[in-house]
Amino acid sequence: MDYPKDRATAKAMGATHYYTGLPCIRGHVALRKTKGSCIECMKEDWAIDNKKRSEKPKSEASKAAGRRYYEKNKEAVKARANARPLEERVRHKKAHKQNHPEYYKSLTSVRKRRHRNATPKWINTSQKLAMRKLYLQAMELTKLTGERYVVDHIVPLISDEVCGLHVPWNLRVITQEENLRKSNKLLAS
Ligand SMILES: [Zn+2]
Repeated sequence: MDYPKDRATAKAMGATHYYTGLPCIRGHVALRKTKGSCIECMKEDWAIDNKKRSEKPKSEASKAAGRRYYEKNKEAVKARANARPLEERVRHKKAHKQNHPEYYKSLTSVRKRRHRNATPKWINTSQKLAMRKLYLQAMELTKLTGERYVVDHIVPLISDEVCGLHVPWNLRVITQEENLRKSNKLLAS
């Protein structure tokens, strides 16, 4: 593509960019914006700004804005998150877990209560033991393989259609990856 050779020409033509073929003050030989500077310089400056912004702890106001945005755009935010590559999501979850230990502690208690509520009264001791064994098996597999294994309720305990039970025959040990895939499918359906 042919670009004007200097800003004045670009301005006169109404072009957004021009190209001098000469190095900028930082040594880039690159396009320059008519209303701006060398595009490589602009990229560098954005990267620095973004890094600074991401390192700065978020203010209460910006956290609140984030929450408001999420409330308004829940479905889109979730869809975007689910569209990300699996390993990125696993990494993100790990970091989130590290940064929010209190939240995850509360989740554990929610999960415990949910399990208790979904456990029928007629379940016997050996069936309870069988379930505990599955959780131990998941922990052991995680340790052995380095991949995270979880206990999955085949029929989810909470869903719009049917509610599963916390009973041995509704449990299975699968990898977290499979589990994430399953939750994706449930969201999609
Ligand atoms: Zn430059």
